[in-house]
Amino acid sequence: MSDRVRNIAILGSTGSIGRSTLDVVAASHERLCVVGLTANSRLARLCDQARQFQPNWIVASNPDHASAFDWSVMPAGTELLLGAEGIASLVSRPEVEIVVAAIVGSAGLTGTWAALEAGKTVALANKETLVMAGPQVMRLARERGGKILPVDSEHSAVFQALEAGRRQDVKRIILTASGGPFRRHTPAQLAQVTVDEALSHPTWDMGPKITVDSATMMNKALEIIEARWLFDLQPDQIEVVVHPQSIVHSLVEFLDGSVLAQLSPPDMKLPIQYALTYPERWDCPSPKLDLAAAMSLDFEPPDLDRFPAIGLGHEVARVGGTAGAVLNAANEAAVAKFLGGQLLFTEIVPACRSVLDHHHFDASPTLEKLIELDIWARQEVTRWVCT
Ligand code: NAD
Ligand code: MG
Repeated sequence: MSDRVRNIAILGSTGSIGRSTLDVVAASHERLCVVGLTANSRLARLCDQARQFQPNWIVASNPDHASAFDWSVMPAGTELLLGAEGIASLVSRPEVEIVVAAIVGSAGLTGTWAALEAGKTVALANKETLVMAGPQVMRLARERGGKILPVDSEHSAVFQALEAGRRQDVKRIILTASGGPFRRHTPAQLAQVTVDEALSHPTWDMGPKITVDSATMMNKALEIIEARWLFDLQPDQIEVVVHPQSIVHSLVEFLDGSVLAQLSPPDMKLPIQYALTYPERWDCPSPKLDLAAAMSLDFEPPDLDRFPAIGLGHEVARVGGTAGAVLNAANEAAVAKFLGGQLLFTEIVPACRSVLDHHHFDASPTLEKLIELDIWARQEVTRWVCT
């Protein structure tokens, strides 16, 4: 184990992944050092974190929230930066070695992009970046010598299992899905789902957007697309299996039929830490698997009729181009409408399908085009809700 200190910046430090990352840093015996933190609205929490971790910079990404906040609680020695420009400036500083991309939604794209442009290593939680612009982002990383290490637990599991063989010998990967809180719901029950029910996940404690995505299984659709670009796999090499215990985080099958899996209790600190210490492994502050305790591991195929998002994920992974950005933005907008009481739970995926079917497909879009379509798709969801 090296004694080298790794300097990290956490984009979205006040969220679920951001806070788990800080838990990993706190347990690292000062081998991880926080040099930058960013947050959008919970600025008092950001300042608490800054007092504890003493970063060189913090970024308040929303200038309106920032101007309404009393910054006298900020520690001396920490400099305040503002807006998306502040994030771009933070991630390109020479002091930053690893950028943890933990902003939720398409708002995470620009910071990740700037980090890769500066040739940094990105510990990527923000799957939406790859859903929107997978080929462009992977190309940028290659060209600038940057690395993308997965934080998403399934992709971390695949990344770890892939180390066991040669890439050309991979037959397929199998992403596990908890199935969410409504795994056994009938279509009639699904239509009655409330916001509170959708926000309580059986195995994972996460931010609200990804918790709803897990309930619709759109999260798995986004993860199929994420895996397609991250690991350069054909969409038909990516399968999904429901595994309600969330212990087996995903599996890789090689050509000889050997299947390798990664197992651990459901806790994001382990995949976060692996992305920060790779290729080293350190003791981790997450719970350990106890195979002596009674436990069962169940697997079943997903129900594609009750959870049509998965089909949408495979379709978008196949067509590529602008489809990912449109699906992602439509989903973000539809989830926000559901959380705001303007859309039924069972309308989220049909709204996405409708917006996807109505967009002008472009097979090789520029980044600007993808950002334009992100805005367009959100407006289309509003129109869909109003008609
Ligand atoms: P969260 O809602 O708990 O936190 C989001 C963070 O992003 C906060 O720090 C917030 O200040 C910041 N943010 C929100 N909107 C922003 C904006 N417009 N501009 C800049 N910053 C903004 O979300 P989370 O659950 O931590 O998820 C973060 C990302 O990690 C998501 O992309 C999610 O899909 C992914 N992920 C999360 C988990 C998990 O267990 N929570 C697991 C795998 C992947
Ligand atoms: Mg995941």
